[in-house]
Amino acid sequence: MKKGLLIVLSGPSGAGKGTLLAEVRKNGFDFALSISVTTRQPRNGEVDGVNYFFKTKAEVEAMIAKGELLESEEVFGEIYGTSQKFVEAKLDEGKDVVLEIDTKGALKVKEKMPSAIMIFIVPKDLETLHSRLVGRGTETAEKIALRFGKAKEEIARSVKYDYILINDKIEDCAEQFVEIINSEKLKVAREENQQLIESFK
Ligand code: 5GP
Repeated sequence: MKKGLLIVLSGPSGAGKGTLLAEVRKNGFDFALSISVTTRQPRNGEVDGVNYFFKTKAEVEAMIAKGELLESEEVFGEIYGTSQKFVEAKLDEGKDVVLEIDTKGALKVKEKMPSAIMIFIVPKDLETLHSRLVGRGTETAEKIALRFGKAKEEIARSVKYDYILINDKIEDCAEQFVEIINSEKLKVAREENQQLIESFK
């Protein structure tokens, strides 16, 4: 069976990662979204097992010690991590898997799984980024300043990614996202395409 594609999506807070994935799904592109574990507290409306698996620090540390996480990172003083089992099971089922994670964790994933497709999304300019960070209204001024600093760091690391999406219109980004995935599936170097070529010999 064809293995799914591993897609890593990063971008600064407020770039529109969540909106992009919702739009992509609305357009009929099916994928499994990896649900990370985190030690941070749920925000209003967030549900355990849907947005994240909310865990204690001790629980996450135990998962790291047992090698259950594909990667983990401290972001804003909280630990976030990706379940290796979830990702591998879905890829084996032939499902494309999307990881929505920070750039440091993302680059660790790329090292472990070099076939991962790395996509970075940015707002169209700095002003838009700033107004989106403030506009969300869920964080204190201090936290917004922290996120803004982190956003600039994240954007600097985007040079290591394969693709950049500029979120001027989310509908256009969603279309481009699907175009990237479809083109990646046609690459000669992909394992299943190599197998096909071999079968003609
Ligand atoms: P938030 O607390 O706003 O949901 O997420 C904060 C940051 O953590 C975002 O940049 C998000 O992409 C990142 N993040 C979420 N899950 C993971 C994960 O499993 N691993 C890593 N490295 N970063 C994550």
